Amino acid sequence: MAIEHPEVDVVTMGAGFTAAITAQQLTAEGLSVVSLEKGGAKWTWPDFAHNHDELRFTSRHELLHEIEKESWTWRPDPAAPALPMRQYGAFHPGTNMGGAGTHWSAVMWRFLPSDYDWLTHHTERYGPDALPEGHSNQDWPVSYDDLEPHFTQFEIDTGMSGQTGNLNGQLLEGGNPFEGPRSQPYPLPPLAPTRAGSRFAEAAERLGLRPFLQPSSILSQGYTDMTGKPRSGCLYCGYCTRYGCEVDAKLSPQTTFLPLAFDTGRYEIRTHCYVTGIETDNTGRATGLTYLGRDGREHFQPARIILVSGYTMSNVRLLMLSRSNAHPDGIGNARGQLGRNATHQILQLPSIGMFEGERFNTFMGNTATTHAVYEYVGDNFDHTGLGFVGGAQIFPYAGERLPIGNVEGIPHAATTGEENADGDPREWGQAFKDRMRNWDSFIPLAIQGDSLAYEQNRFDLDPNFTDFLGRPLLRITFDWTDNERRLHAFLAERCSEIMDEMGPTERTDQPEIEDYNIGRYQTTHIQGGCIAGDDPGNSVTNRYGQVWDAPNVFVTGAALFPQNPGANPTTTVTAWMYYALEAIKSQYLRNPGELMS
Ligand SMILES: Cc1cc2nc3c(=O)[nH]c(=O)nc-3n(C[C@H](O)[C@H](O)[C@H](O)COP(=O)(O)OP(=O)(O)OC[C@H]3O[C@@H](n4cnc5c(N)ncnc54)[C@H](O)[C@@H]3O)c2cc1C
Ligand code: SF4
Repeated sequence: MAIEHPEVDVVTMGAGFTAAITAQQLTAEGLSVVSLEKGGAKWTWPDFAHNHDELRFTSRHELLHEIEKESWTWRPDPAAPALPMRQYGAFHPGTNMGGAGTHWSAVMWRFLPSDYDWLTHHTERYGPDALPEGHSNQDWPVSYDDLEPHFTQFEIDTGMSGQTGNLNGQLLEGGNPFEGPRSQPYPLPPLAPTRAGSRFAEAAERLGLRPFLQPSSILSQGYTDMTGKPRSGCLYCGYCTRYGCEVDAKLSPQTTFLPLAFDTGRYEIRTHCYVTGIETDNTGRATGLTYLGRDGREHFQPARIILVSGYTMSNVRLLMLSRSNAHPDGIGNARGQLGRNATHQILQLPSIGMFEGERFNTFMGNTATTHAVYEYVGDNFDHTGLGFVGGAQIFPYAGERLPIGNVEGIPHAATTGEENADGDPREWGQAFKDRMRNWDSFIPLAIQGDSLAYEQNRFDLDPNFTDFLGRPLLRITFDWTDNERRLHAFLAERCSEIMDEMGPTERTDQPEIEDYNIGRYQTTHIQGGCIAGDDPGNSVTNRYGQVWDAPNVFVTGAALFPQNPGANPTTTVTAWMYYALEAIKSQYLRNPGELMS
């Protein structure tokens, strides 16, 4: 028998980014909110003070989800056996208060306007026959214009650094010439460029490209955010991705949203509480969340609104596991839409240059402290006759290079131009030592690109493998298609051209995309599975993340994305949360039920 708690207005799965924004906004409206978080409590002080410990955070994954309790299985196609991830690989979801929003990199892109009406735009420009075989891409239910006021509000609320490229339709020198029109400039100037970034930018400019400094939720200088308290600018300490920021320069739920929610006295986070199901009554209406408490017992938290906010894969799995007579295939799955359109953003290093005798101080900074070029992102270039759609940004992956990761990361071929007898670019002995002498002299060029949606790429429950409670793991069926292979080949050529211009002494090129493999880190931008739309026949939720078949259940985050554009997701995740909360506050709270546009 579960221990039942008094009913609250809102219960959230986890206390990550979207749950924290919701807690801040709805407690301000007078609502009571409880977050059930499987990890522990973490604050900047004392948890992230002097946390430059690579063994603890990068190697031993202190801020990552515990895969020994709940992992994922993967297979490239439905005919292959699915096997579990037994050690960390393709993605790094978070745990603890703050979620992935604590150990993230904080690069903050708005997607292109044409990313939202993807299907209409591409069909009109290229015709339906030019779209990849078996694709299941569709238009988003929200447009760039719907989200624009919320992008802007979030940037002002939290502080964001960047160089404005398009202000109300007017192109401005130095910014991203391809960005959608912004109603306000970035609140802060961009982060300082790194030496590697400047080397890249000079070469790109000579080739006629228009590089610019990446936008980021890392403060380039002191800023007083919506808490009314000043936060420090970045120290470029280099211990950034997979670490909490020790000076609050990197935005996280802890810096801004959680303190404001706690200040109201109407917010509680229950840590070490693992959510196991959404309960429903006989009519199918959700009544609250069940969870395993830190006392090892089952608890039930009743609530009027249930927020499924545990990050893409946890969200999809919880909905699938929440079966009842009213929802026999899981909540939101009455029309078989749950699990569709699983996508995983491409991140590859097609060209690595060695610059013998030069040093770039790559131990400093962050992924965000370099330039990027946007000429080849999405549909910014004409794809006629290329045999693929979509694109990728190009940027130098040269910051926050730490001692242990560095040993693993330098390709042998980049220092010697050779591979060992097994075709492995890594080496030991003298070659390894020679390689290490050049640890700060190489610059990889990265591409981060679209992951389009295909019928065969999806999530479901694994019939063979279970978690620590004996419940099915989430199974991921995912592989690249010819579209991604051609996209990579095209982008790899562009990287080679830029690398040539940068003038390396040695180089390694990778013209073909590496096979998708759950053992190799890709990005943690794994999306879809619970996509939003305007039609219950091809989506799980409406444009507010409200589940069609359970109107008091709201899903948050990138699980809602119909397909995955070639940029980091959180600008859209947070702005979409603001958009949904506006509708919840102005419509749902007055008249609970289905929200119509
Ligand atoms: C390494 C890394 C780098 C990233 N870098 C960037 C970047 O540069 N730019 C960008 O735009 N985005 C980036 N992201 C993505 C960004 O962190 C996410 O978009 C954002 O955190 C999503 O917010 P969320 O609320 O959906 O999930 P989260 O912030 O992850 O919160 C989910 C919370 O739910 C909890 N939870 C999950 N399951 C359960 C359960 N069963 N019971 C209880 N609690 C549960 C988790 O512990 C977690 O605290 C990065 C992510 C990672 C991991
Ligand atoms: S690099 Fe800057 S934002 Fe990142 S952890 Fe260090 S001080 Fe914080």
